[in-house]
Amino acid sequence: MFDLHIHSIYSDGSAKVDEIARRAKEMGLKVIAIVDHSVEHRLGMDESKAKRRQEEIEEAMDRYDIKILSGIECGILPDGEIQLPDFDFDIIIASIHDFLSIDEYYSRITRCLEKFGDVVDVLGHLHSERFGSAGRDYVLDVELIDLMLETDTAVEINTSHMSPPIDFLEMCSGKPLKYSIGSDAHTLDRVGDVRWGFEMAKRYFKRGKPIINL
Ligand SMILES: [Zn+2]
Ligand SMILES: [Zn+2]
Repeated sequence: MFDLHIHSIYSDGSAKVDEIARRAKEMGLKVIAIVDHSVEHRLGMDESKAKRRQEEIEEAMDRYDIKILSGIECGILPDGEIQLPDFDFDIIIASIHDFLSIDEYYSRITRCLEKFGDVVDVLGHLHSERFGSAGRDYVLDVELIDLMLETDTAVEINTSHMSPPIDFLEMCSGKPLKYSIGSDAHTLDRVGDVRWGFEMAKRYFKRGKPIINL
């Protein structure tokens, strides 16, 4: 199993890189991604933090013999913009972190994938009720899935937000979409809490494939 969405003290998580790696190894995970918020977040990670975190990631990989991806979660800003520090990340997640009207929700995501589809790997916690849209639009969901296929962007199955909702996952089934699975852990005890995600992937992504090869 893998967990590709974990926050550390390099943004708003409470656990250190070393602690996360040790816990992940104990849980039997093969790959994890430490994905801290980007600079638009008040506790976000700039270039110098990313470099410091990278040193800790490399030490922890040696110490615990586990693969750790160096990632970032960018908030999707007005006009679909994202802010990325100058650093070579292994995985880039883009997520909505604002309460928006239904139109603005879809338009930000669409513009983001149109502009940054070649750098964004994963669309995070889509249609989460916690940072939700005012509603859903079936036609726009169909278009969004097509755009994700076109831009080779993975759907994230996020076990903290329990997102995307089941009817969206049903729309994904039968499509050759990539998927990612993440706990969105901000505390050590939630690292590796991905079981629901793997169940959903098995059920709804039979034609899809995980973003990483295990
Ligand atoms: Zn998020
Ligand atoms: Zn997150």
